[in-house]
Amino acid sequence: MSGIYLDHAATSPTREEVVEAMIPYFTTQYGNPSSIHQFGRNTRQALDEARRVIASSINANFKEIIFTSGGTESDNMAILGAAFALQEKGKHIITSKVEHHAVLHAVQYLEEKGFEVTYLPVDEEGRIEPQQVEDAIREDTILVTIMYGNNEVGTLQPIQEIGKITSEKEVLFHTDAVQAYGSVVIDVKHMEIDLLSVSAHKINGPKGNGFLYAREGLWLEPRAFGGEQERKRRAGTENVPGIMGMKKAVELIQAEKVDRHEQLLNMKKRMLGIFKEEDIEYVLNGSISNSLPHVLNVSFPGTNVEAMLVNLDLGGIAASSGSACTAGSIEPSHVLAAMFDDHERMTSAIRFSFGYGNTMDEIERAAKETIRIVNRLTSM
Ligand SMILES: *Cc1c(COP(=O)(O)O)cnc(C)c1O
Repeated sequence: MSGIYLDHAATSPTREEVVEAMIPYFTTQYGNPSSIHQFGRNTRQALDEARRVIASSINANFKEIIFTSGGTESDNMAILGAAFALQEKGKHIITSKVEHHAVLHAVQYLEEKGFEVTYLPVDEEGRIEPQQVEDAIREDTILVTIMYGNNEVGTLQPIQEIGKITSEKEVLFHTDAVQAYGSVVIDVKHMEIDLLSVSAHKINGPKGNGFLYAREGLWLEPRAFGGEQERKRRAGTENVPGIMGMKKAVELIQAEKVDRHEQLLNMKKRMLGIFKEEDIEYVLNGSISNSLPHVLNVSFPGTNVEAMLVNLDLGGIAASSGSACTAGSIEPSHVLAAMFDDHERMTSAIRFSFGYGNTMDEIERAAKETIRIVNRLTSM
């Protein structure tokens, strides 16, 4: 396909190496890992190896990885599983106003079930202060769920500081690391994280795959019943080809993370640099220093999102208005609404997100095309 894909935070292309790693598990290695014959044993071995590779990527151990169908399921499993397992202890949960819907809608469901939720406000860059978490923790708090890096604006949260607080207060800490995992070095032990969600399709792996890290000894109330897969935490025959693809994506990301961070950050800086040079009016949403390298969210006052996205699409550029789930509906983004109270800035915000396959030449062409569109729309 021609065109410039700048929507890697929505999903990312599956790498060739990943597809290749999956194929044998459709064709020759089709045994059920729960079967005791050689076909099953072979697949079991492959699955164990994938679990080891994935665990070591975040300094977890083998037993602490649960394979899931992606970020949404991992978030739900962590939040609902922990809440229902600990409800005798307390029914209070702390989160932030800028979480992904997979977290927000899960805690809203818990509110309907009698839990109480505190939604921490963020500053204008979309960040919470560790102190806010400490102040919000009560006797009956059982879980803190704060995302690692934001999918709409890229802002990183002070995860290590929050981990220290929750660990001291003996409250579980979950973080949605779906966007951060590909470019941030994560150590769950050092950062004192109890639960962490990752999705494969955001890191050039297959769609419909992910994992949840759950600290050893931590019990989550299961949401699926059946066989004894995943240490009885998630019943159902494993998506073996998908898991093998995710393993390959993880290996590639681990090997390339540091360079990747720099490349993506250079793309972001280049695009912003061109906006500055060409002297168009724009406002950065989020933070430049405390941010994921691949997410750039900017408002172009005098334009509106729908017109911008249609024109960018006509110009061959795929961008987004924030989260994919919010796109298509006229409702302003809950993330931007939590950051500032400025209608025009909210309704003219575009998210560009960079990733595998993008070149600096593409970034430059996209930036120049964006400027042409902004100039046209604002002169009308
Ligand atoms: C994409 C995304 C999810 C959902 O992951 P899926 O694998 O698509 O279910 C959750 N959280 C964040 C921050 C995301 O960007």
